[in-house]
Amino acid sequence: MEVFQGIAAFPGIAIGTIQNYHKNEYQIRHYTVSSSRRELERFARARKEAMKELQELYEKTCRDMGKQQALIFKKHMNLLEHSSFAKAIESLICTEKVNATYAVATTRDELAATFSMLEDEYVRERMVNIQELADRLIIILDGIEKEKLLGEEPVILAAQQLTPVEMMELGKEKVLAFVTENGSAVSHTSILAKTMNIPSIVNVQVQEEWNGKTAIVDGYRGTLILDPDEKTCRDYEKQQKEDQEERELLLKLRDAQDITSDGKHIRLFANIGSLEDMESVLYYGAEGIGLLRSEFQYMGRENYPREGELFRAYKKIAETMGEKQVVIRTVDLGADLQADYMEIPEEANPVMGNRGIRLCLDRRRMFKAQLRAIYRASAYGNLAVLYPMITSMEEVREIQNIVEEVKEGLKKKDIPYKDIPNGYMIETPAAAMISRELAKEADFLSLGTNDLTQYTLAMDRQNPHIKKFYNDRHPALMRMIQMAIDAVHGEGKEIYICGELAADPTMTETFIQMGVDGLSVVPAYILPIRKEIRKACATGKS
Ligand code: PEP
Ligand code: MG
Repeated sequence: MEVFQGIAAFPGIAIGTIQNYHKNEYQIRHYTVSSSRRELERFARARKEAMKELQELYEKTCRDMGKQQALIFKKHMNLLEHSSFAKAIESLICTEKVNATYAVATTRDELAATFSMLEDEYVRERMVNIQELADRLIIILDGIEKEKLLGEEPVILAAQQLTPVEMMELGKEKVLAFVTENGSAVSHTSILAKTMNIPSIVNVQVQEEWNGKTAIVDGYRGTLILDPDEKTCRDYEKQQKEDQEERELLLKLRDAQDITSDGKHIRLFANIGSLEDMESVLYYGAEGIGLLRSEFQYMGRENYPREGELFRAYKKIAETMGEKQVVIRTVDLGADLQADYMEIPEEANPVMGNRGIRLCLDRRRMFKAQLRAIYRASAYGNLAVLYPMITSMEEVREIQNIVEEVKEGLKKKDIPYKDIPNGYMIETPAAAMISRELAKEADFLSLGTNDLTQYTLAMDRQNPHIKKFYNDRHPALMRMIQMAIDAVHGEGKEIYICGELAADPTMTETFIQMGVDGLSVVPAYILPIRKEIRKACATGKS
């Protein structure tokens, strides 16, 4: 028995045989032709055949996994029909008189080289789509046999990297678990694995000799156990059975309403920290996104993100979520979330330092670029904006002035935008104390219990040494939350909780009875919290 440690991407247990997955490998032949007409015709036929395949895959995926998942195939069809990709291939065939396969591969490689330097998520996604589409065209053009992959028995699929399209082509009935090696596949693998409800681990060095061996995938701990002994198998089989029963029960709640046993509707939103998480928000049936932590766009890079990049990401979220509301929190950097290029002068107490809204008001260009991106994207869906780490009405006034300037600028340039709802985070004791004034200026408020706890107790939320003193149910905190709820309701506005406490099932009924209008939790907690909401009694008189 051998144990390999990776990173857990989606929880669950799978026991079965490993099958290694290899991409189709082919050689691109290159030759010149006397007349390009025949190659143009071959390319036209391959396009038609690819369209047919994609349409079939679209319909099958719609049936098996829903329209949202199937959209990727529509994107490929659009690329094939309307983009300059096909035109570039045709032009290469004509001008250089080369065979169609070579023209497809060369166009793909040239585009990849041009765009490889860009970090923009949208461009990267488009490039992956073009590569997959080019592979499909090459396979059709050269009559390459697609590797017959999976047999009748479902397997644990081990691969260096898998794209969503490959995963969907494999089909969820044939896969017990995904084990992948490549870092860039992490996000894609995990989103889709979640949606397919298949345990998944990433960052494991996949080895050729695993093929055909028995293994256990532990999607809770991120481990792969190769050749497990009998006792390990028995233990895992037991856990698998219990898990399965619990999950099936919960999945029945995907389309259920978030209404308490005595009829009060609670808005159940999701917290997300990257675009990839959107899929699971839809899968678990959240009412919308209650907190999009936008820091992911600013971290792990060498310079500020540009407005265009931010805009495309927000537009994508707005369009994907459709009518569901998406609350974008403006960037909360500083403290434990540092980006080197910002060069925030060293601070003795960064948690109390230049962070959140203070940093944004200090770096106006950065703040305005994000606000412009949010307001531009607002034309494409149902967005709202939320400001973190508020401590005073002066900050609110400054924000309001900047927002006005941003809207004025867009108006002048005839760029469409909506007057979206605005909210303030209550995550400092100061904000809790002025929650009534804040509510007058806001459309909604959101309680960030993580920071509210650390600032109320004067205890660093990250310090493991004071863990035993760190009480996020401290009566002071509960009173502060109650005070904020009452004040905000006094102004006829709504108030939600988006800190981690919102995902604690033992607190759901308490928060509902305190009067909270909504809870925002990580996607994996949508169903467990929905279960609690439906059991709860809002009036406390059950
Ligand atoms: C909070 O403080 O509760 C919160 C939601 O914000 P973050 O955890 O991102 O600081
Ligand atoms: Mg916070």
